[in-house]
Amino acid sequence: MDGRNPLQAESLAGGWLRVPVPLPYSLRFVNSYLIPEPDGGWTVIDPGLNTEEARDLWLDLLEEQGIGRGDVRRVLLTHQHPDHYGLSGWMQREQGCPVWMTEEAHRYAVRMWGRDSVFPRELEAWFRSHGMPEELLALIGPHLDSFRDRVEPQPEPSYLRTGESIRLGGRSWTLIDAPGHAPGAVCLYEPARRELIAGDQVLPRITPNISLLPGDGVDADPLRSYLRSLAELEKLPTERVYPGHREIFADAGARAREIADHHARRLGHLLGLLESLGEASAFELCELEFGAHLRRNIHNMRFALSETLAHLAYLERDGRAVARCGADGSIRYRGSIGAGGGH
Ligand SMILES: [Zn+2]
Repeated sequence: MDGRNPLQAESLAGGWLRVPVPLPYSLRFVNSYLIPEPDGGWTVIDPGLNTEEARDLWLDLLEEQGIGRGDVRRVLLTHQHPDHYGLSGWMQREQGCPVWMTEEAHRYAVRMWGRDSVFPRELEAWFRSHGMPEELLALIGPHLDSFRDRVEPQPEPSYLRTGESIRLGGRSWTLIDAPGHAPGAVCLYEPARRELIAGDQVLPRITPNISLLPGDGVDADPLRSYLRSLAELEKLPTERVYPGHREIFADAGARAREIADHHARRLGHLLGLLESLGEASAFELCELEFGAHLRRNIHNMRFALSETLAHLAYLERDGRAVARCGADGSIRYRGSIGAGGGH
């Protein structure tokens, strides 16, 4: 029962280590990267979610590698999702090092996980307007609250700026804006060896979640931002991509095209559903798209409904779907036949 699997870090070229940090979700692991610096220190990319298991595994690994307090010179975060960000404050305390992320990513971390966050209430109200049944809505608040312990203590970050270059592992990397999956996310690109630290922007075998979120100042059309970002990534030749989940792979552009095709198919399918149903709530469409079994997993249900809403927002912007708000605040969608793509 007490399966103390040793942290099986994978040795990579240049003394880098890929560290699969365990997650209590169906994704199972997040990839952290431990990168030796020319001055003898180390950089940690995306340390993982704060669980006892993850902390123990990190302490064992650092000891095994002879990395003492102060040897980790900085933590770099590709984005603020808890499975990447959650341990950064703990590592900042353990190592006395700075944590770097973009200002926008930090703003979202505070909005989601700050002490006075109203996000759980906002999300609940928003999902209610989109047709989620009350028995599932009741799970949203406790579900989001369950992350709080897993992102504490939160870091005091320094801010990365996209477009700038940073030294990492003795080489110069460009910080690339990577919107769509998470607000303020970045990828790091190194053109000499054609390497990309991708965060969750392109992943092998799984498609990164694209969520529309409620609230002021959110990206109102995250799928469009994401598809633009994929098109930008396609232009970068890569021979090695370090993703946030699953195994290292070679061609970011090929994977970006596959993911873009996946979304095009999903948009087509959603339009087909709207045509055959006449009118439906986002929740009804989500269940038809992803399956009713999602009701048993509020974590996956939340992502599926937020992604359905991102697809609907995209179709709405193109004039291919129309949202109608009822007197009771409920929102339903129908296809916009013959509109054929706005402006
Ligand atoms: Zn993510």
